[in-house]
Order: sequence, then structure tokens, then C-alpha cells
Amino acid sequence: MSDLRELYQEVILDHNRRPRNFRTIEGANRHAEGYNPLCGDRLSLYLQVEEGVIEDASFQGSGCAISKASASMMTDSVKGKTLSEARDMFEQFHQMVTGNADPLASPERLGKLAVFEGVRSYPARVKCASLAWHTLRSAVDAKDEVVSTEAE
Ligand code: ZN
Repeated sequence: MSDLRELYQEVILDHNRRPRNFRTIEGANRHAEGYNPLCGDRLSLYLQVEEGVIEDASFQGSGCAISKASASMMTDSVKGKTLSEARDMFEQFHQMVTGNADPLASPERLGKLAVFEGVRSYPARVKCASLAWHTLRSAVDAKDEVVSTEAE
């Protein structure tokens, strides 16, 4: 298990160093802002949605390694998904990091996002990991508002 943990850390550090989709989308038709005051993580999420499918996803912002890596991997994984699939992924991710689901029971559902399973042991980090996903849900639901992890 410790090898696996190290591998997971490598993945997170790599996405932090070279975040994927770290840009704005010119003419994006969905946008949401996320803020985690506990850690100071901020992000702007952009989606290009065509006929219910997320054609493109990107983000900008600043924050800790976990929040950045999570936004990087989230934007990668929702591209090509329908809005309802994206909502399902939000639910699965949220359940995984809050400890209500065992990712090993259905590893294929979240794929490499399972690297964030370890944060469930660190409650303060759960918000860093889930910020991008809360922001995604807001953008998917087309709510033009600032999402705060402290709003729950
Ligand atoms: Zn953070």
C-alpha cells in the first residue's frame, strides 16, 4: 500500500507542477468561481458545453498542490462527458473523499481520480480536493455564483 501511496503522491505533484487545461476558454458558455477560505484556494472554471456535452474544460487560479492537481485532473476527466455524467462523477468523487464510498469497490468508475482517496484521512484537505468538483457542479447547473467550501 505504501508504494501505491507514493505513486499517488507522484501523480498529484506532477499535476501540480504541470497543470492540464490551465488556461481560459475564449467564449466559454459556462463559468463558475470556487473559493476555499480555509486554505486560500481559488479557481475559475470554464466549460464549453454543446448539446449537453462538455466539449472543453479549463481552469485558472491559485492554491495548494492538492487543489491544483484536483482541478487539473477534474478538467481532464469531464471532457467529452455529458452534464449528467459530470454530476454523477461529482457525487462519486465527493463520496470517495468524504469516506462514504470505497473506491476499491469500484475503481473503474473514478479511474485515476482514485489518487485523491487518501485525503479522506485529512479533513482539511478534503476541501482542497473537492473545491474543483463543487465549482464544476455549479458550472454544470449554470449557477453564476462564487462557490465557497464553507457554504455547506
Ligand atoms: Zn488547499
